[in-house]
Amino acid sequence: MKINKRQITIIILAIFLIVTSFFSIRPRQLVKSDSGYRLVMGTFARVAAVAPDPNTARKSIQAAFTQINKVDELMSDYKSDSEISRVNKDAFNQPVNVSRETFKVLQKSIEFSTLSGGAFDITIGPLVDLWHQAAEANSIPTRNQLEQARTKVGCEKLILDANDQTVKFAVEGMRIDLGGIAKGYAIDKAVQVMQNCGAIGGLVDIGGDIRCFGASTRGKKNWLIGVQDPNKAKQTFDTGEPLLILQLTDAAVATSGGYRRFVQIQGKKYSHIINRNTGKSAQDLSSVTIIAKKAINADALATAVSVMGPHKGTALIEKIPQTEAILITSPPENKLITTSGASKYIKQ
Ligand code: AMP
Ligand code: MG
Repeated sequence: MKINKRQITIIILAIFLIVTSFFSIRPRQLVKSDSGYRLVMGTFARVAAVAPDPNTARKSIQAAFTQINKVDELMSDYKSDSEISRVNKDAFNQPVNVSRETFKVLQKSIEFSTLSGGAFDITIGPLVDLWHQAAEANSIPTRNQLEQARTKVGCEKLILDANDQTVKFAVEGMRIDLGGIAKGYAIDKAVQVMQNCGAIGGLVDIGGDIRCFGASTRGKKNWLIGVQDPNKAKQTFDTGEPLLILQLTDAAVATSGGYRRFVQIQGKKYSHIINRNTGKSAQDLSSVTIIAKKAINADALATAVSVMGPHKGTALIEKIPQTEAILITSPPENKLITTSGASKYIKQ
């Protein structure tokens, strides 16, 4: 049988089509790599990356940790050479120039302060210090001490100059504490660099505040994240039975609660989250979980709602699009309260 040129072309084309369609319908093999827990930002962090190859997964994880450490170098108030420590030392005497990143977090913090009617306030430092000293002395602060510390607290006393990118304190003895927002910011930055590195999916967890994106593994888009039961979980690594499991796609989740970090005075536990109006620790909620698109929002709002309590807190979250809350009231009630759209994230 003689095959003419036209037939040869058709055969080659057919083989080409069969081969290309075979490769395109074959599911892409994805690699998932997990860093395990590492100590960063004064807590434990874990990064998982899903990528087309092991090298990309490894590079994404490395880049994420580099980014998290960079945020810590700028914003930690424990590290004496961080930018925030420099601000805390000098900003009453003169305006202190800070990096674009730090300035952005300060601006965002003020936005959250306004949004929450002052429940979220990064100038809370003097009250945090007072409660730490009280724990060391094993005696609760006096009314006078609380009043004194409160004179040094309030975002309205923080002067930001966007042109010069400087920070100034209006009152001597003020102290910025980014503990309620910096983890969220670091998570968002880490996700950004992972995507730039070529990760097609990933999860960044810093101290239980989490953001996930893209594929979890082999094309699935859901990431499963447990919410701890505050009455069963004891310390950082004892997570206990999860109270419920969230099923998230391209979202962030942050949990605030006095059950994990607190000071103890005369046998009584006081949450590390403080209400600037009273100077006292937030008491109404033992756990506040916020689901949002970005980790910075979830982190700041979880801290804010802890102070606002169940009624004002849920009212605020209901007003914010693509944001939900899951609250557990303090013992003895231990009541579970959720905002109207939260159930779609809860695995049945
Ligand atoms: P989080 O675990 O995200 O709720 O953050 C709690 C930390 O934020 C505390 O350990 C303090 O460093 C800081 N903080 C405490 N009270 C407040 C507040 N009312 N607003 C903003 N940050 C706070
Ligand atoms: Mg927070």
